[in-house]
Amino acid sequence: AESHRTPRHEIHPRQVRHALFTWVRPEPQSTSELLAVSPAAMRDLGLLASEAETEDFKQTVVGNKLWGWDEEKETGEGYPWAQCYGGWQFGSWAGQLGDGRAISLFEATNPFTGARYEVQLKGAGITPYSRFADGKAVLRSSIREFIVSEYLHAIGVPTTRALAISLLPNERVRRERIEPGAIVVRFAPSWLRIGTFDLPRMRGDRELVRQLATYLAEHVIPGGWEALPARLEDPSSPPQDESILTPLTGIPPSEIQGSPGEEENRFARLFRHIARLNALMVASLQSYAFTNGVLNTDNTSLLGLSMDYGPFAFLDVFDPSYTPNHDDDTLRYSYRNQPTIIWWNLVRLAEALGELLAAGGEVDEEWFVSKGFSKFESEEATQPYVRRAEKIIAQAGQEYKAVFLAEYTRLMRRRLGFRTVNPDDLEGFISPLLDTMESLSLDYNLFFRTLSSIPLVPTPTPELWDTVLPKFFYPSTPPSSLPQDKAPLLKDLTTWLEKWHERIKQDWNNGNPLIPEIDQERIKAMKGVNPKFVPRGWIFDEVIRRVEKDGERNVLKRLLHLSLHPFEDNWAGREFDGVLYEGNKDEEERW
Ligand code: AMP
Ligand code: MG
Ligand code: MG
Repeated sequence: AESHRTPRHEIHPRQVRHALFTWVRPEPQSTSELLAVSPAAMRDLGLLASEAETEDFKQTVVGNKLWGWDEEKETGEGYPWAQCYGGWQFGSWAGQLGDGRAISLFEATNPFTGARYEVQLKGAGITPYSRFADGKAVLRSSIREFIVSEYLHAIGVPTTRALAISLLPNERVRRERIEPGAIVVRFAPSWLRIGTFDLPRMRGDRELVRQLATYLAEHVIPGGWEALPARLEDPSSPPQDESILTPLTGIPPSEIQGSPGEEENRFARLFRHIARLNALMVASLQSYAFTNGVLNTDNTSLLGLSMDYGPFAFLDVFDPSYTPNHDDDTLRYSYRNQPTIIWWNLVRLAEALGELLAAGGEVDEEWFVSKGFSKFESEEATQPYVRRAEKIIAQAGQEYKAVFLAEYTRLMRRRLGFRTVNPDDLEGFISPLLDTMESLSLDYNLFFRTLSSIPLVPTPTPELWDTVLPKFFYPSTPPSSLPQDKAPLLKDLTTWLEKWHERIKQDWNNGNPLIPEIDQERIKAMKGVNPKFVPRGWIFDEVIRRVEKDGERNVLKRLLHLSLHPFEDNWAGREFDGVLYEGNKDEEERW
């Protein structure tokens, strides 16, 4: 029977070695419809709003026109490319991945701000990295990525951005069902990710790792090597130079602990810089309870930008074990694991940089031989360097944790309306609140917006707190319908609110009851960081259905508008409540 079998040829995706990108053209699109453009993105790219109306713009955002490339002379700066990278997915090495459905069009600098961006299309067709997939994106996931990028930016989360979304009406993409295709234009200062280092590291391409690290420091990070922060000195005596942290993070240096002792080189500084940026990013995700769902190394930015939006979701009720990813059986990417998993990813980066961390990139085979070692790979030769790299990684881990906690606490303080710093904030205020929210199944973001709106003039009495409590619950689950055993939790919440009120009085009026003007100011400050609008799963579902099935267009533009102005109380007199949804309200009222 064996001999009758036709020989089986295994087809492997082509492996691209010693290179980190391939020139590639987007697929031509015969028809497309520009669905929405983010005015905030236009501004940040240094473009005028009116430019989005032009035919050139419409053709550029679907890849038909190459901006900065002369087709006739075949010259210019703007020939598109796809990046080559690998990745650790769900804890396992996945090999070469790369931009399978993303194509970068050009790099541009905003003439007003000097900020540099790499602009790319997602869903513009096959690249050398598409592997067994089609290089396309469906409308559903494109709407989600487009909106959430701009929303996260609007609430202050460091993120990659989105400029425009176009529908490809003739494109039928096969997923679970046949769906319409779309292209999103995304941009970021850089799309380099930890996976970009993983691939050459796993292939043993030490020279490419070194080149990439150098390129990152010299050409991508503003200010280059000199801008990388130095290691923090003895934590008991905070660094004299406030500028080490403040421009980056806004965290007072005294709140960040480092470790004294070890000398360090510039690659160690580069690694620590990347770790800190990611700590800030994930602190921001945690404080707004945003779960990415697929925090693999190929989705972890070297610039600490939240990126690649697939199965993401904001938490509704506060449940730390929530993951939006249905395949995530082990809860690897659940809400509570995000800070840990980003660090896990950073350790993969540290391994890629290991040799450079330990020896500053000065080590090569010849150096080893000159020191009397026979071979770089030999155990005796590498031991001291491994230990040194491990030490640097351990120190960076401490810093990562300290930066994360300092930033998370800072953001939570803001959300609670605090103006002063108390060492007990995390343990005394934030943790008990989260515990109560969890046991009462309170909606996380709704809680903070509700808290912002509670008037503290006249000074609340115990009876008044009782009337306030229902506001923290969905209408379907009023506190009165709570099971008996949960009743004591309501008391906990009241106690917490009273303690919170004391602190607010302390912070805003030297411990005295608030007066109307001060309370207005307090409410304004809190509403400015606690969004009224949150793009929840059901909102996406409804908007996607209406755009896709009912051919509506304005509903997407309205969703974009809300996402760009999430803190506002009302929009042109029509209040949209992003939290409380009553299906029977009429259109105009809801949006
Ligand atoms: P993601 O899960 O979106 O981070 O993607 C992981 C890898 O799969 C990346 O290399 C993507 O480029 C690739 N990929 C995902 N979807 C597609 C697709 N439809 N066509 C080509 N490549 C894809
Ligand atoms: Mg990805
Ligand atoms: Mg994705």
